Amino acid sequence: MTVANHQLIIVGGGPAGLTAGIYAARAMLDVVLLEKGAAGGQVMNTDWVDNYPGFPEGISGFDLAEKFTAQAQRFNLATKLCEVASMDLSGPIKKIVLADGETLTSLAVILTPGARPNELNIPGEKELKGKGVSYCATCDAPFYRGMEIAVAGGGNTAIQEAIHLTKFASKVSVIHRRDELRATKIIQEKAFANDKIEFVWNSIVTEVLGDKEVEGVRLKDTKTGAETTLALQGLFVLIGIRPNNEMLPLDQLDNDNGFIKTDKKMRTSQPGIMAAGDICSKEVRQIVNAAGEGAVACLAAEEYLGSLK
Ligand SMILES: Cc1cc2nc3c(=O)[nH]c(=O)nc-3n(C[C@H](O)[C@H](O)[C@H](O)COP(=O)(O)OP(=O)(O)OC[C@H]3O[C@@H](n4cnc5c(N)ncnc54)[C@H](O)[C@@H]3O)c2cc1C
Repeated sequence: MTVANHQLIIVGGGPAGLTAGIYAARAMLDVVLLEKGAAGGQVMNTDWVDNYPGFPEGISGFDLAEKFTAQAQRFNLATKLCEVASMDLSGPIKKIVLADGETLTSLAVILTPGARPNELNIPGEKELKGKGVSYCATCDAPFYRGMEIAVAGGGNTAIQEAIHLTKFASKVSVIHRRDELRATKIIQEKAFANDKIEFVWNSIVTEVLGDKEVEGVRLKDTKTGAETTLALQGLFVLIGIRPNNEMLPLDQLDNDNGFIKTDKKMRTSQPGIMAAGDICSKEVRQIVNAAGEGAVACLAAEEYLGSLK
């Protein structure tokens, strides 16, 4: 009989994976967490976090990520800096193949590789990320109180978030490449009735302007090619989110457009495989629920490992 290297492997070291790791290490499981970059995930690239409990003054994403990692280290969570290239999760022994060709095996796996927002990939966007360019209205809306801002996008999320942003901003310009929205009629009607929202039709953002902070955007008319500029203090890029699922065997896991489906114990359709955080099919993608789901996923993994004895 093949013996697995570990009881549990966690794939991804963001808030979901690190929390699962803290629970697993405290439960004295034989666990290893695999992370291809700096632990902390998307939090590492977040300028300021104001909505994670326990930090009344807020905390920089970098510092929060360091605290997550330090807490995992306190319990001696084994971590391996490596990229997972592929997996076979179908049998009782789960196989994880790394980019360098090494294969690790375990009895249970928690998938926490996260997701990433789609970017416009235009000049100024990267440079001004966190300095007026945002990808998450739930995270950053209160930073834009009384300011003039824009939303790039026209789907349900973009329009719902534009409506939410009007609670804080003095004006929200919705920049959309066509002359009609993709959002459902009911959401569109709410947006059209909101006098803080202005629509900039048939337009794409071609450049984010500003030196230290966003000062405006350059727009191109998709019909005439004419260029204009719009002065503003914030740009929300809300054009979808992509799961980091390139290494996942999606034919072995029930999923929703590549986001993994779970039950309320964070169990996937595959026995012994749990998922948590942004990779899951769900409505809200925040640090606090990623961490919560990581804890639940670890408890489900413990229950599964117990059932094998
Ligand atoms: C710009 C921005 C600002 C945000 N601000 C806030 C905020 O203020 N408050 C808030 O609550 N939420 C915020 N969020 C959302 C929050 O960051 C995410 O919901 C949260 O990080 C999800 O955690 P996760 O562990 O599921 O995934 P992630 O944080 O995405 O971590 C996944 C980890 O898995 C690793 N990984 C992926 N693929 C592989 C592989 N093949 N091999 C090995 N490792 C792999 C990645 O390197 C990464 O470290 C923000 C998001 C963005 C993009």
